[in-house]
Amino acid sequence: MSADIIDGKAFAEGLRGRVAAAVPGFVAKTGRKPGLAVVLVGEDPASQVYVRSKGKATVAAGMESFEHKLPDTTTQDELIAVVEQLNADDRVDGILVQLPLPKGVDEKAVISTIDPAKDVDGFHVINSGKLAVGEEALVPCTPLGCLMLLKDRLGDLTGLDAVVIGRSNIVGKPMAQLLLKESCTVTIAHSRTRDLPAVVRRADIVVAAVGRPEMVKGDWLKPGATVIDVGINRVPAAEEGKTRLVGDVDFASAREVAGAITPVPGGVGPMTIAVLLRNTLVAAHARAGIGAPEGL
Ligand code: NDP
Repeated sequence: MSADIIDGKAFAEGLRGRVAAAVPGFVAKTGRKPGLAVVLVGEDPASQVYVRSKGKATVAAGMESFEHKLPDTTTQDELIAVVEQLNADDRVDGILVQLPLPKGVDEKAVISTIDPAKDVDGFHVINSGKLAVGEEALVPCTPLGCLMLLKDRLGDLTGLDAVVIGRSNIVGKPMAQLLLKESCTVTIAHSRTRDLPAVVRRADIVVAAVGRPEMVKGDWLKPGATVIDVGINRVPAAEEGKTRLVGDVDFASAREVAGAITPVPGGVGPMTIAVLLRNTLVAAHARAGIGAPEGL
């Protein structure tokens, strides 16, 4: 058996198209474009790439992009002042502070300054609390993207056994909350879980968000399981001096057992920015007091 490949790239393109199609309606109602502000502190090359592609995608969707690049000498107070200025700026519907932040800057303190109504990353405790109690919230982009792929593939998730490997606030925990909301029976596994292969083998849905290259093997999976691989790991390639990207799942062996699987790259990765645009549009509608468009 060879699993179906879940094409996150195509789904993300579709979502970006639906967001872009809804922007003119917002402009007609409010007289302005939805706006996303991205704050980057320091020179981290990977973060620079992410911020550039977020800016490009925002403009391509017909939204306003505001980029704030600050030196790595920026203090916590200075960064908080920038966030407060963005909170007060009516053109800004979404604020994203690119992580990680330089040493000496407390991420929690910065994130808690973001207006929860503009928290398009969904990292503010108000939003994670709302998600936990089942209220309408801005939800972290990567797990929401995973849920969209799962629902697109499986439809109703009620009663399915889901195992989420990883308990970070960014991916694992919100992923588990989202699956619980869909009435899955959810297990959260982590580095202290005993006999992880046996836990994973129960699952109809496996979401791997660990950060360990190709850790989840095919013989850990229940035949026919749907596997969502969040991992992005750079490992040495066969050719000397080159690297390649792999997920947290051993794709070759998992493909033989799973019913469907996301590839790396081209699976979950492209969903994150598409959902960020979606969250910005949703936040813009909520701030303007108008209902969000259907189908997002
Ligand atoms: P974290 O490092 O914050 O969390 C990793 C989790 O994995 C922890 O809960 C940890 O457990 C658990 N873990 C570590 N080792 C093991 C093990 N041997 N067995 C079981 N569980 C283990 O990572 P993130 O959640 O931020 O990211 C996870 C992966 O997803 C990374 O590869 C990251 O690059 C990728 N990622 C991809 C995104 C995308 O857009 N596609 C976005 C965000 C992340 P414990 O809590 O016990 O330490």
